[in-house]
Amino acid sequence: MGRQGKGREEHNTEQSHAPRVYYLAAENGVEPHSGVGFSDNLPYMNRRNFLQSVAAGVAAAQNIPAAAPRMIGIQVGAVSFVDEGVGKVLDEFQQDASINTLFVATFTYGRGIAGRQVPGQPLPDHGKQQYDTDTFKGGSYIKTHPQYYKDTVLQDFRASDLGDFDVLEAVLPAARKRGMKTICWFEDVWSRDVPNVTQAAERQFDGRPGVTLCFNNPNYRNWLLATVEDYTRSHEIDGIMWGSERHGAFANLTRGANPSGLTCFCQFCESKARARGIDVARARAGFTALAEFVRGGKRPVDGYYVTLWRLMLRYPELLAWEQLWHDSLRETYAAIHAKVKSIKPSVGVGWHIWHQNSFSPLYRAEQDLTELAKYSDFLKMVMYHNCGGERMAAYIGAVGRTIYGDVPGQELLDFHYRVLDYAHEQPLATLPHTGFSADYVYREAKRAHAALEGTRTLLWPGIDIDIPTAANSSKSTPNGTRDAVLAAFRGGADGVILSRKWSEMKRANLKGAGEAISAG
Ligand SMILES: [Zn+2]
Repeated sequence: MGRQGKGREEHNTEQSHAPRVYYLAAENGVEPHSGVGFSDNLPYMNRRNFLQSVAAGVAAAQNIPAAAPRMIGIQVGAVSFVDEGVGKVLDEFQQDASINTLFVATFTYGRGIAGRQVPGQPLPDHGKQQYDTDTFKGGSYIKTHPQYYKDTVLQDFRASDLGDFDVLEAVLPAARKRGMKTICWFEDVWSRDVPNVTQAAERQFDGRPGVTLCFNNPNYRNWLLATVEDYTRSHEIDGIMWGSERHGAFANLTRGANPSGLTCFCQFCESKARARGIDVARARAGFTALAEFVRGGKRPVDGYYVTLWRLMLRYPELLAWEQLWHDSLRETYAAIHAKVKSIKPSVGVGWHIWHQNSFSPLYRAEQDLTELAKYSDFLKMVMYHNCGGERMAAYIGAVGRTIYGDVPGQELLDFHYRVLDYAHEQPLATLPHTGFSADYVYREAKRAHAALEGTRTLLWPGIDIDIPTAANSSKSTPNGTRDAVLAAFRGGADGVILSRKWSEMKRANLKGAGEAISAG
């Protein structure tokens, strides 16, 4: 699609902002200065700042040390270390892509960041050439210390699929010896099999417990705080990243979710709503009306989009409930951040921000980076270019059946490209087969960089390496991966996180990222 007359695209933010600080600093009264990292002597220097310093004549040319490396991270699950050996994995990370930071999956019940390659996708060129379909369980891949979990009923969540293996015990010393940092990476993905989990679960619109847990339920809130306390006190870690790939009932319903499964309508959320002056009965009536509309299967007399607006005007509680959900997530972020900092200020704390941010204007509106920056040392903004095409097409298909039921798919995609500020992406028919371009990564990085300007929060885009797509959809390539990393740097990223897990990545594509890292 063409773009004309948008002068703001030419605005060069890279030249106009104050230099960003390096890694974590001033949160706890330590003034930022060059060369201070969040643990010891491996600072994540922002090369642009370094160059600006040089340009400003801060350092005499002959005495300038080599620029410290950017944060180059990779997500890796416990199974890779078990299958391949810690030394081999770390060797390849260092050789292939100059990795200096490990994002070790410490807890999840999902296969996105743990376990081997997902069934149905080709196995990569390393690791056990066998699927773990029958053996994968999920849970905590490190030993847990019961004294921290006294205030929650969630106490039995140790993963059993790798026996007694503790991924931090196995990896931390080896990583440290090589000068690599280790960040615990855990996510908001649970299983119904966890003992007592329903006592922490969200309550669905139909009254049944969900498989998702509620941020306002003390059992879950306390578990999250206990977990980060356990991580911080029990191990010499450098950071913690947590991610929640969810949003509220309104956003879910507009994407066509089953109304009976909407969350959260538990007692804690309802009393929090009442305290905010939200009429719970009106909210329920609004969701019932919205559900009838999006699932009705019949075009409303005034059309889909007009009817959406009519319902939002009649039931402002719909948006209030959505905001309640997101505020609860933000409070959770802030509480986790405060807990870790109260124990060990040098441990960095940040969040994985869901890919939905690249598709849904509503979800993007909810990711207010200026707000998040207050309790974020870093943000992993997901910018998965290759699988992004397929995912965007799916998103357009979903909202094209609900709130935009009158808009043909290509027009709807063009509208989203326009309002999300993508310029050079493919039409709907080919998008799943091409993926997004590197320009998408550049624009997302540039936008996030601008939003974080003036804050201390570092921007670490998530880069797609071999994230599964359908058989006939586009696949990662070395050049595509290289260009995505270069685009992230060009957009102002302070590092990159190669995603989602080593057990699904091909070495050739990791080397593609490595080329960009050497060049960038
Ligand atoms: Zn709730």
